[in-house]
Amino acid sequence: MGFETVCYEAHDKPGGRAYVYEDEGFIFDAGPTVITAPHCLEELFELSGRRLADYVRLLPVSPLYRLRWSDGVSFDYVADEAGLLEQVRRVSPGDVDGYRRFADYTRRVFAKGYEELGAVPFLSFTDMLRAAPALARLRADRSVYALVSRFVKDEHLRQAFSFHPLLVGGNPLDTSCIYTLIHWIERKWGVFFPEGGTGALVRGLVRLFEDLGGTLHLESPVERIRLETGGGPPQHVVQAAGLPPAAFDLVVSNADVHHTYATLYRGVAGAQRRQRRLERMAWSMSLFVLYFGTRRRYPELAHHTILFGPRFKGLLRDIFHGDHLPADFSLYLHAPTVTDPGMAPAGGESFYVLSPVPHLGNAAIDWEAVAGAYGDAILESLESQLPGLRESIVVRRHFTPADFAAKFDAYHGSAFSVAPRLTQTAFFRPHNRDPDIPGLYLAGAGTHPGAGVPGVVNSAKATCDTIAADFRVGAGW
Ligand SMILES: Cc1cc2nc3c(=O)[nH]c(=O)nc-3n(C[C@H](O)[C@H](O)[C@H](O)COP(=O)(O)OP(=O)(O)OC[C@H]3O[C@@H](n4cnc5c(N)ncnc54)[C@H](O)[C@@H]3O)c2cc1C
Repeated sequence: MGFETVCYEAHDKPGGRAYVYEDEGFIFDAGPTVITAPHCLEELFELSGRRLADYVRLLPVSPLYRLRWSDGVSFDYVADEAGLLEQVRRVSPGDVDGYRRFADYTRRVFAKGYEELGAVPFLSFTDMLRAAPALARLRADRSVYALVSRFVKDEHLRQAFSFHPLLVGGNPLDTSCIYTLIHWIERKWGVFFPEGGTGALVRGLVRLFEDLGGTLHLESPVERIRLETGGGPPQHVVQAAGLPPAAFDLVVSNADVHHTYATLYRGVAGAQRRQRRLERMAWSMSLFVLYFGTRRRYPELAHHTILFGPRFKGLLRDIFHGDHLPADFSLYLHAPTVTDPGMAPAGGESFYVLSPVPHLGNAAIDWEAVAGAYGDAILESLESQLPGLRESIVVRRHFTPADFAAKFDAYHGSAFSVAPRLTQTAFFRPHNRDPDIPGLYLAGAGTHPGAGVPGVVNSAKATCDTIAADFRVGAGW
């Protein structure tokens, strides 16, 4: 849009939750691995007359996920209708028609919730009222699990079509069924993995930003932002470690939204009220992530595997409302070498396994004390899928809720910011433009529409539209 733009990044590499670790030739994408809705990334490049494909190659992944349950049932979640119907029939022949009706419902939710409202900035209650009748017609008050259960009867299939809110920090038992639109996004476009890993997508985005004249300061944590309002338009004076203070007409913060108000804008009128409001909201769960590389390959693997434990509802209640670390788990296993063998040294695999766990506000777990043993227990359970796993591990590291708090200033160590509940969605989420602090805009997981790569890219789109209107410049779309 022609703005001179400076990006401050606290860490030594860009990417945020999509940071990359490299250990002894193994490449570990720290966070996002399931890239959906690639068109929102393509659109971002097209805005400046470039092509995403010239910056990074997105490789299709199939099956999208392999789902496995502790009773031995397995389900390949694929994008093509015939293949998916076949999988449904194999697990529960009586649910084929129900699945068809469920898919049709998700198509309608997608048309309303994603295509029409996904990148709209909900700045006023009127915006929300306009969307309300459609949300009511779609029965947005129902949870994902409750909605799916109206269509399919088999418990495995109910879980198979209900787990998606977990990908954006929501509990399937209380997240609005609007989030079933993720199913249609995956059916429509599939799931992708960037060649070279998610880090290659981050590098592509940074190259685009720098090609357009943006300045990136790494290892430059912003400590405070002062608002100067004397006379002319407000100026935001950014104080970052190691750099001289710099004044800007506007700031877009995608730092943790609580950190933005409680620390960066502390003392600025309106910030404390927002901070208190955020402290009353429900926050998404946290994650324990274990990264490990093996000296051997496991040729029978899928790229994305979800391993459901014996408990579903009980475990979800413990993760979202419990005050302790449950002894059992449901896991997501990432095996990127299936799609891109370059992610590990020849003959090896690079993995991460992720376990959703309570955030620190609910369960004050001493992660430093328990992380090693918790990781060991997860690896032991993975031996049923990956025989001889533990003796073939060459490198290993973990990331805990305490790390989310320490390294991302994440409130309660939450992995996905404010929880995606109906009462915390759209207008009820922190707004893309702060109502009280002139020139402060938000993007990222804590604002509308929410977490996930498509979510944060669409939040940026909604925010840029708002900035374009406020500063009377063309947004370019
Ligand atoms: C383990 C994991 C797996 C995930 N998997 C997927 C997936 O498969 N698919 C998907 O779509 N989504 C996934 N997600 C969600 C997705 O990664 C996030 O929702 C999204 O990346 C959040 O982007 P963001 O810009 O809001 O925040 P972040 O990525 O956290 O970016 C915020 C940035 O601000 C910087 N920062 C914070 N405070 C300051 C400060 N004071 N000064 C300077 N810099 C600061 C941080 O260092 C960071 O770089 C996953 C998340 C995690 C944690």
